[in-house]
Amino acid sequence: WTLGDDDDDLAGALSGPVRVRVPAKINLHLGVGPLRSDGYHELHTVYHAISVYDEVTARAGDTLSLTMQGEGVGELELDDSNLIIRAAHALAATAKVPAQARLHLRKTIPLAGGLAGGSADAAATLVALDALWGTGLGRDELARIAATLGSDVPFLLYGGTALGTGHGEAVSPVLARANRWHWVVAFADGGLSTPRVYGELDRMRAAGTAPAPLNSSDDLLSALRQRDPAVLGAALGNDLQAAALSLRPALADTLDVGDKAGALASLVSGSGPTCVFLARDEAHGADLAQALRESGLCRGVQQAYGAVHGARIG
Ligand code: ATP
Repeated sequence: WTLGDDDDDLAGALSGPVRVRVPAKINLHLGVGPLRSDGYHELHTVYHAISVYDEVTARAGDTLSLTMQGEGVGELELDDSNLIIRAAHALAATAKVPAQARLHLRKTIPLAGGLAGGSADAAATLVALDALWGTGLGRDELARIAATLGSDVPFLLYGGTALGTGHGEAVSPVLARANRWHWVVAFADGGLSTPRVYGELDRMRAAGTAPAPLNSSDDLLSALRQRDPAVLGAALGNDLQAAALSLRPALADTLDVGDKAGALASLVSGSGPTCVFLARDEAHGADLAQALRESGLCRGVQQAYGAVHGARIG
């Protein structure tokens, strides 16, 4: 793995503060298989880390505390249910150190937006506290802890573009050209609960109203080895999109704005309601962003690029 593993060898505990930046993820391909007996769906996904970031700062402290600013203030609980606190306890238990730190979250990734912001925060916390506490655990050990916290957390440690299988927690890097892909990200009002979106897909499949599931990710993987964004655009797909649109029909209008403005692809990110649009280049991205802003349909619109590194100090 070439991305995101260059701060593994920090020796010993730091006195802090340790600041870690972590990206949001989108799914270039999200193939949802049948519901398994353990309650998870079998997934085949291609993750892609984009330049929309949260930041977790860790300082030495006598207890474990969490403060925050930005997206979700007043909505996101900062207690033991927060993935940041859960990540801290999980790391402390594995490393056999006391769970003591002052943590601060600067949040840009919207809550329940389909961008895995909570998972990103958990990954950032593992990296920050690993350094603050000097645990000496490697990325692979951190990835094992990450998988216990959530399906998307291991990927956000590594970043880049990666294949996810199982329920998304088993990640391996994808052979891709060192290309920069340009995206426009449209945030919506309110979140969508991931379990609800999966439930809606199950319901639609049982009723025979869901679109046919995606084929393999072969076309996408071959598009990632080329340079042509139009080829990549044609290969993107998300089995959760129909379910997200069924729960939030207005998102179809947002996707339509992107299509009409010439996006190479317009799709729902993960379980939504964030929508992402592929641009030919940065200038085209600026045009798409402008059209989406002028539509008045989005809470916020941001240009981004990928792939970027996973959780990293600095
Ligand atoms: P995914 O695509 O992984 O399902 P998402 O982007 O739709 O994620 P998140 O913002 O990651 O949604 O989180 C969903 C829920 O997780 C939130 O509504 C919140 O209740 C809980 N949560 C716990 N800790 C956090 C955190 N640090 N940031 C965001 N959500 C958190």
